[in-house]
Amino acid sequence: DRSVCAPLPVLGRDVAVPLVTGGEVTYAALDYAASAPALQRVWDDVAAYAPYYGSVHRGAGYLSQLSTDLFENARRTVAAFLDCRPEDQLVFTRSTTDSLNLLARALPADCQVFVFETEHHASLLPWQDHRVTYLDAPRTPRQAVETLERALADRDPHGPALVCVTGASNVTGELWPVRELAAAAHAHGARIVLDAAQLAPHHPVSLRDLDVDWVAFSGHKLYAPFGSGVLAGRADWLRAAEPYLAGGGASRKVTRREDGGVDVEWHESAARHEAGSPNVIGAYAIASACKALTEAGWDTLVAREQHLVETVRAGLARIPEVRVLSLFGDDAPRVGVISFVVDGWNSSHFAAALSAEYGIGVRDGLFCAHPLVRTLLGTDPQTQGECGAPEAAPGEKSLNAIRVSFGAGTPDEHVERFIGAVR
Ligand code: PMP
Repeated sequence: DRSVCAPLPVLGRDVAVPLVTGGEVTYAALDYAASAPALQRVWDDVAAYAPYYGSVHRGAGYLSQLSTDLFENARRTVAAFLDCRPEDQLVFTRSTTDSLNLLARALPADCQVFVFETEHHASLLPWQDHRVTYLDAPRTPRQAVETLERALADRDPHGPALVCVTGASNVTGELWPVRELAAAAHAHGARIVLDAAQLAPHHPVSLRDLDVDWVAFSGHKLYAPFGSGVLAGRADWLRAAEPYLAGGGASRKVTRREDGGVDVEWHESAARHEAGSPNVIGAYAIASACKALTEAGWDTLVAREQHLVETVRAGLARIPEVRVLSLFGDDAPRVGVISFVVDGWNSSHFAAALSAEYGIGVRDGLFCAHPLVRTLLGTDPQTQGECGAPEAAPGEKSLNAIRVSFGAGTPDEHVERFIGAVR
């Protein structure tokens, strides 16, 4: 029922962009998977707070105290949004990339890491200082669990191990069987971190329910564009690790030694990994987005988004030259992220035309998931351009893809315009 599923308003609904064919059209932002537009509510909350913000954890003045309270309240709000356990820690970071790099630095020295080759580079690459096992792309969710189980069964059972997995693919939008993967990890004594960059904006994420050890996501994909992200989960490895950044805020006590050096006692709380002045507006904005999504109601948001997913998939299915990319097949549950290629078209030219002729913003390329996109396209790595914008002549096999993505606040008109333009 579309009247029940009224979209949450986002910024930029009235932005007019010029067309090469003359005239203007309102911009259709269909690149939510890269950065979603801010919710109007987030913007309003930030604007109301902006005159009052001050330094966090330091100042004696009223506004510093207010900001410290708001920052720590934001931490509690986001922890509640993620359904954290009481003993979990929540660290504010810059992004998902930052969060996963932080965790990579906090792993015990002999930790073995297991990661599917299908991950976004933010999940694929931070573990290089450890023993990493890259797992082949599965073709069903069941195969993903079996592949992980096999790999874990072969591992050294005594050492620590971490599995890193995405909740929803930034290429296919397909949901991964997180709960089953977490159960497999735990059954083999491993821990698991969930990359929720593409899941959290589209689905409720409960650490408790999914039984994952950590979760990471980015504010700018969750309708809160202020350079902030989150790593939340088990405190023990975070507490035992050297601080991610050394500096003020992370250090509790610093003293000169007799030999001329310096001794440091680091905090054991989340502050240990938050050295420097924190991004208080960013944290506040994430908390505002969490509240807005919760109040709008996930059932409503998911139903609305699934209506858009079905509209786009049905529209694309009617165009014979279009091939939608999928790892798990047509029936797999998915979020509003859909990648495709068009026979006879270079994807970069195609995406440029959607922008120039129709005012539609999508993305083209390999989406920072090079191994996955190559698997889906069946192309040879040697023929790829470095950043996913290779020059294929029209008529040749696509070397990259086009991605359309959407979520809260996307009006029907945007996806209808998109389907019309592709047709
Ligand atoms: N993981 C996934 C699944 C993503 O889609 C992205 C962003 N495209 C990231 C991680 C990295 O997010 P950020 O750029 O905000 O660090």
